[in-house]
Amino acid sequence: LANVELETERTLAIVKPDGVFGNYTSLIRKIILDSGFSIQREATVHLDEDSVRSFYAEHSTKSFFPNLVKYMTSGPVLIMVLQKANAIADWRTLIGPTDAHKAKSTHPDSIRAMCGQDLERNCVHGSDSRESAAREILFFFTETFSEGTILKHDEL
Ligand code: ADP
Ligand code: MG
Repeated sequence: LANVELETERTLAIVKPDGVFGNYTSLIRKIILDSGFSIQREATVHLDEDSVRSFYAEHSTKSFFPNLVKYMTSGPVLIMVLQKANAIADWRTLIGPTDAHKAKSTHPDSIRAMCGQDLERNCVHGSDSRESAAREILFFFTETFSEGTILKHDEL
């Protein structure tokens, strides 16, 4: 597959409150840059409940949703737009599976194994598809990007 060209993509990464409180932001930023991503945008914000409910709307009917809202509003988060070829899948691979406890045995080199605790407190977020990435980037960063490529609303 040497001739397959992977398209440049952007994805949304979040260092969740447990990652920020655990002082993992510098290390995670280093892993990101060492893995060939560029960081296009960065912001530290303390999300309110309505923002979390809206960001995670797909999970609104799940039993864990109220706890997810509490968790994600428990402190500041670091939001980053990452860019590179195949960024969306590569960032998901780097963070590892949702259950950070299981990740410690099955994916010990993953970021969630490094700084997460369990199925809820897994210290980082990554967009799961092109559609999610476009929606999530626009959720936090409404301005366009400078290189001539604009994330269009029809990608939502
Ligand atoms: P991912 O973040 O890997 O895409 P999901 O989209 O399924 O995972 O879930 C969003 C977030 O909700 C997870 O990262 C985790 O913090 C939390 N979560 C998911 N499933 C559960 C669960 N069964 N119990 C508690 N928290 C959960
Ligand atoms: Mg998800």
